[in-house]
Amino acid sequence: MENIKKLAQLLAESKDTLVLTGAGVSTESGIPDFRSPDTGLWSQMDPMELLSRSALSRNPANFWTRSEPIFREMSTAQPNSCHYALARLEEKGLIRGIVTQNIDSLHQRAGSKCVLEVHGHLRTAHCPSCGAETHMPPLLDRVATGDSPPRCSCGVVFRPDVVLFGDPLPDAFQRAWQWARVCDLLLVVGSSLEVAPVCWLVPAASKLAIINMGETQCDDLAEVLIRGKAGEILTKLVKEAEELLQARP
Ligand code: NAD
Repeated sequence: MENIKKLAQLLAESKDTLVLTGAGVSTESGIPDFRSPDTGLWSQMDPMELLSRSALSRNPANFWTRSEPIFREMSTAQPNSCHYALARLEEKGLIRGIVTQNIDSLHQRAGSKCVLEVHGHLRTAHCPSCGAETHMPPLLDRVATGDSPPRCSCGVVFRPDVVLFGDPLPDAFQRAWQWARVCDLLLVVGSSLEVAPVCWLVPAASKLAIINMGETQCDDLAEVLIRGKAGEILTKLVKEAEELLQARP
């Protein structure tokens, strides 16, 4: 609890706080992360192999058929108390916005307005040839009923609007980099910080706080380090921070 109070104090003092989230903020919504022992996707398959640009071009039917249940689970999950707490912090002016590695859109669905998706999202897919855009749910239904790989009317296979392993850096990363360099405080929630280039944002920030269940690459750099479930901790953090705001003259 002491660390939560300390973090609330840092939030209240900071003029520009940026939050960086990873798959750990969505495990309480039922979406597995990559690296948690036993429950992470990595314990069932190699996401770097399946969710890669080369897997899509080498065997698009296999890519779509194997990704469909994963994408569907991510697209239909509901926000949890961590997503709502972060939306509340933004509403109260205590954070500037969120840079997320997640592709599940749960921050926006919980009410967060300023969200930078550095790995894309699962709301749409597009045709790499003619550029036609399509919503993901009907595309996933096509795959589930055997129409795999799903093709555009021009004949080319659709690709999801997510950043696949092997894709070039998205433009959003440059903006995230600018934000991280100027913020007073970077609060990391639910990320192992093992995925580059997002982990490079961390040393760019002047002050760091981390909320995560497991160890991260950057624990040694954190001014405040809180181990535990993001939903529980963020809910307490909002309460503490709001009390500090109310106590201000
Ligand atoms: P990661 O799997 O490498 O790390 C997740 C971290 O979250 C772990 O260290 C774990 O200890 C922690 N964690 C798990 N549940 C938690 C909880 N309830 N509260 C606090 N911490 C918790 O994930 P990453 O660092 O985000 O990197 C993996 C990549 O996978 C990202 O690029 C992301 O795009 C992608 N991914 C996204 C989703 C999603 O959109 N929901 C899901 C899986 C993977």
